Amino acid sequence: MESYTGNVNPIGPRSCYDEGKRCAETLYFDYHRKHGLDIRVGRIFNTYGPRMHPADGRVVSNFIIQALRNEPITLYGDGLQTRSFCFVDDLVDGFLKFMNNDHGFQGPVNLGNPGEFTVKELAETVLDLTGSSSKLTYLPLPVDDPQKRRPDISLAKEKFGWEPKIALQEGLKKTIAYFEELVRHGCDRCEP
Ligand code: UDP
Repeated sequence: MESYTGNVNPIGPRSCYDEGKRCAETLYFDYHRKHGLDIRVGRIFNTYGPRMHPADGRVVSNFIIQALRNEPITLYGDGLQTRSFCFVDDLVDGFLKFMNNDHGFQGPVNLGNPGEFTVKELAETVLDLTGSSSKLTYLPLPVDDPQKRRPDISLAKEKFGWEPKIALQEGLKKTIAYFEELVRHGCDRCEP
């Protein structure tokens, strides 16, 4: 829920990212209060789709590239942690509706797809859709890796009538098609 004010480790390896976002929200609301700036604060959850950078190390791009190359699929931890993946077109649609909402609703508002999958389920789906012969391999879980991340999007639905429409399988097919082209043309920065 957007009313949850968070519980962030300020000194962990990912803290500058988390705290950076919190600080940005603070500054936006200060500018709004002090200068009347018209603002929108959206909280984006895990998003994927064509044109992701192949080497940014996120789970969807990693798994697809590994599968297309028949290389081991790198599961961090036991792979039972969950994430909720939103296809990029849905996210953009959510942003447009949020930006253009008639009531001047500023947020913060969660933008993401509430469908929840374990990382292992994602790996199996990618293997299935690519027909890859890759095997699963287990690596250590990064520090501060959340066990679950799933947006409650009731507020977005209520305020500007948005919810995602593209199911994971469908979005993954489009994303796989994009990475197939990239790998075929020999992307030289595919390594995570
Ligand atoms: N992950 C994984 N293998 C990878 C990359 C990521 O198992 O090759 C896991 C990671 O530990 C996390 C989840 O997948 O639990 C999502 O990771 P990502 O970096 O995409 O997003 P975030 O951690 O920011 O939610």
